[in-house]
Amino acid sequence: MAIESFNPYTGRVERCFRAFSWVKTERILAQAAREALTWRTTSFAHRAGRMHRAAALLRERQDELARLMAIEMGKPVTDGRAEVEKCALTCDYYADHAEEFMRDEVIETQAQRSFISHEPLGVVLAVMPWNFPFWQVVRFAAPALMAGNVGLLKHASNVPQCALALEAIFHDAGFPPATFRTLLINTDLVEKLIADDRLKAVTLTGSELAGSKVAATAGAHIKKTVLELGGSDAFIVLADADLELAAKTAAQARMINAGQSCIAAKRFIVEKPVVREFINQLKTHLLAFRTGDPLDEATQYGPLARPDLADDLTKQVEESVRRGAKVELYGGQSAPGATLFRPMILSRVKPGQPAYHEELFGPVALILEARDADDAIRLANDSPFGLGGAIWTRDVKRGKELARRVEAGAVFVNSMVKSSPEMPFGGIKKSGYGRELSYLGIREFVNQKSIWIA
Ligand code: NDP
Repeated sequence: MAIESFNPYTGRVERCFRAFSWVKTERILAQAAREALTWRTTSFAHRAGRMHRAAALLRERQDELARLMAIEMGKPVTDGRAEVEKCALTCDYYADHAEEFMRDEVIETQAQRSFISHEPLGVVLAVMPWNFPFWQVVRFAAPALMAGNVGLLKHASNVPQCALALEAIFHDAGFPPATFRTLLINTDLVEKLIADDRLKAVTLTGSELAGSKVAATAGAHIKKTVLELGGSDAFIVLADADLELAAKTAAQARMINAGQSCIAAKRFIVEKPVVREFINQLKTHLLAFRTGDPLDEATQYGPLARPDLADDLTKQVEESVRRGAKVELYGGQSAPGATLFRPMILSRVKPGQPAYHEELFGPVALILEARDADDAIRLANDSPFGLGGAIWTRDVKRGKELARRVEAGAVFVNSMVKSSPEMPFGGIKKSGYGRELSYLGIREFVNQKSIWIA
């Protein structure tokens, strides 16, 4: 199957690429496996020089990369530039800290000397999604390359130009070509790659379905996986919260990337006395978001990335309404197949509705009314997902205590959920396992070897 760069705003096919054959893919894997033997012996200083150069190139090419995201998956250019800057920061972060994170750890035992040595695994496959086409990849590649691993990227098939631009950045930064390669392949070759002994591990960001398939194959071949899957993050607003700030932030947190973010706030769990006022304020903020051409500097949210994603979202909304949810703000698609999806608010979200149990990957805010803080925590945890969460209260001490009770990989008090290179990122439950970013992220794809000197 050809790999198409389809512009969701214009509906035009921008470019078409022939998918790599297995013969070509296998050749690249062989080169990567050979390179892995050399790359692991290079010094941290050698790798860091190249990683800083990659950061500089990301910044130099910021406009061009933002344009690619706009035409391939509809991200407004202002957001695209911010994404590229975050990638550059993360390259610099791992260039500066990888040596410290990978240093031998001395452990006191009965031995004369005993320590943990962190050693690269070799070739790691990254199966990545389209929603943050640069960020999702860099957050894997920067630590992996700095650890001495080499990376193969199977990007989502709707962002091939972004995938090739990433490869060009690492090559132009001076990384040997085989340390980072983009594979323009269809999903059928992923299984074959994972089965190959030269491939050591896999990381996947995407849907639960893709994650479970890839992890099942990796499991059959006894290979390490990291999965960063979906989320339905709770945004808890207690009665004592700064309601104005909470509602304004709620709108931003729901509208990140036109709602197509794993850590977008999706379920707004609000204490009864303030629920009506919260809905009114949220409505005002959502209506103020401007849509338009993603290439236009004034655009704040673009189309959804593909028509099928918008159609699926409409089905989830319609089924939820059929099962009792109430539309508080009308929006959505103008017609089936349309990629523009205007923000919506649904209240009376209850068990049995898709909105209650599933991830809604687009700008639909769900309101759940809580009796009190305990009930809010109960609702927050009554979800198959466990990625992020937020709690709004003026009582920070209470916020901190409640944060510990939320079943999630990250909880923010009086803020929306965000990722940053210093802090680990990842989920529990159906949101996946393993961590990216921070010192924990770089240690996912290393052999933590015990060395004991008697
Ligand atoms: P997918 O999970 O299908 O795609 C993510 C990546 O996985 C892509 O590279 C895709 O390749 C690949 N992939 C899909 N199936 C397989 C497979 N069987 N074996 C190997 N690789 C596979 O996501 P969609 O784009 O279809 O989006 C569907 C839903 O997934 C969204 O609505 C959202 O709920 C969730 N999602 C979550 C993301 C997150 O950030 N956590 C990101 C994207 C989606 P290809 O493109 O070639 O199919």
